[in-house]
Amino acid sequence: MDKRFPIEDQIEMLGAALKGRVVTSRNADYDELRAVALANFDEHPAAIIRVANAADVAAVLNFAQATDLPLAIRSGGHSTIGGSGVTGGLIVDLRDLNAIDIDEATKTAWIGSGLTALEVSTAVTQRKLIIGFGDAGTVGVGGLTLGGGIGYMLRKHGLTIDNLLAAEIVTAAGDIFVVDANHHPDLFWALRGGGGNFGVVTRFKFQLHEMPHFVGGPLVFAPTPEILAGFAALSAAAPEELTTIGYVMPIPPVPFVPAEAHFKLAFIAMLAYAGDPAKAEAAIAPFRKLGTPLADLVGPVPYTTLYMLDPPPEAKSAVSIRSRFIKGFGLVEAKAMLAAMAACDAPMKMAQIRMMGGAFSRVPANATAFAHRDATTLVAFLAMYGGGPDVAAKYESWAADAMASIGMGGTAYVNFLSAEGTGGLSAAYPAETLARLRQVKRRYDPENLFRRNQNITPAA
Ligand SMILES: Cc1cc2nc3c(=O)[nH]c(=O)nc-3n(C[C@H](O)[C@H](O)[C@H](O)COP(=O)(O)OP(=O)(O)OC[C@H]3O[C@@H](n4cnc5c(N)ncnc54)[C@H](O)[C@@H]3O)c2cc1C
Repeated sequence: MDKRFPIEDQIEMLGAALKGRVVTSRNADYDELRAVALANFDEHPAAIIRVANAADVAAVLNFAQATDLPLAIRSGGHSTIGGSGVTGGLIVDLRDLNAIDIDEATKTAWIGSGLTALEVSTAVTQRKLIIGFGDAGTVGVGGLTLGGGIGYMLRKHGLTIDNLLAAEIVTAAGDIFVVDANHHPDLFWALRGGGGNFGVVTRFKFQLHEMPHFVGGPLVFAPTPEILAGFAALSAAAPEELTTIGYVMPIPPVPFVPAEAHFKLAFIAMLAYAGDPAKAEAAIAPFRKLGTPLADLVGPVPYTTLYMLDPPPEAKSAVSIRSRFIKGFGLVEAKAMLAAMAACDAPMKMAQIRMMGGAFSRVPANATAFAHRDATTLVAFLAMYGGGPDVAAKYESWAADAMASIGMGGTAYVNFLSAEGTGGLSAAYPAETLARLRQVKRRYDPENLFRRNQNITPAA
């Protein structure tokens, strides 16, 4: 880097020194590569750097600090706060870090941090193995894992981070470490729930689990408070092999649901049973009796069919989200949820009920930076829409009001926060956890280089 040259030339020189590729507005694929999943964010970076390895990442971090250009890290581009873009700055784009190296003997895998949940799920389930991510295949393994990872294996195998054995990380100082329980244990602890605050993770090593059989899919009902509350009660009491997510949303015009229900609010109970198929029926049967299903697609299906609610790319929209852990979900909460959904006029809208428990709950609160291990119920409200700031303001306040209407509980999942400032951060982390995270931050990122995230500032 030579400061006598204009920044564009310095970026070009950086590119010449990397194994990966530098993309600027001069390149034909600049717009495609700067785009992120949510239409709320439309950043124009000075350069997108498609890193090829950890050494490339270290070079970009060094360059960003020498030039004072702001920095963003991008994996799957699904940040709810636009953390993976930055106008006028540099984006470390990890999408070419897409190696999947599965060791079937130890049932472990090194996974490039630029992969999506669908890509990894497809690769591991082909070998009758599983690692849980979230409910959407397009979400990046990078951001999802660093925040925790709440998905369809939660009750059986815990959060995604509960299956993280090691990570390769590039720190602000340009050090490349492989961290695990014995090497930089404080950093390894912080990575499991503390988000992208501590460095750029280039690879994750996961423990995989055998999954020779899988039974799952959606049950669709006309939504009533009784069905929602019944679903929550059954989910909490279900065997650990069964993890569920409930969705209230307008049903798209899909052929397996009667036409008269199309575009109306429905309740979709997504069921995921990872265990003996002979016992699956008994676990699932009570859900079928919640009401008369409009559709019943639960059966022995490929695990990746659970990603069926992923919005298609052409349906890209802005999103307003509010989410909290709440104490429990009964008829009162169900009625409030349905009333809030009926009151929303967004072109697409969704409420979610996720019942926790099982393996997730057995991890001690201080073992990872995700400390809310006593959480029982996660609720989220989402509005999806097009249009400018006025429209966004309307749906931001709808989502906040909707969440408040069923109890804006004090605790939250960091990856489901929107830009809620320090209030959001203290909902995601108990005071003791946050203090410990800030100490780790001071040690590994004292200048707060990694700040386009739910930012944990270094301890004083
Ligand atoms: C449609 C949708 C569905 C979702 N469903 C679920 C779900 O079921 N369960 C769940 O747990 N979460 C879910 N999420 C939340 C999701 O986990 C977060 O939005 C997550 O941050 C997205 O990760 P990403 O890599 O796709 O995003 P990005 O925007 O690329 O990254 C998100 C943040 O993480 C940082 N980051 C990403 N990768 C790295 C890395 N390798 N090293 C350092 N920092 C990094 C980025 O800088 C950014 O701040 C969902 C989000 C969306 C939009």
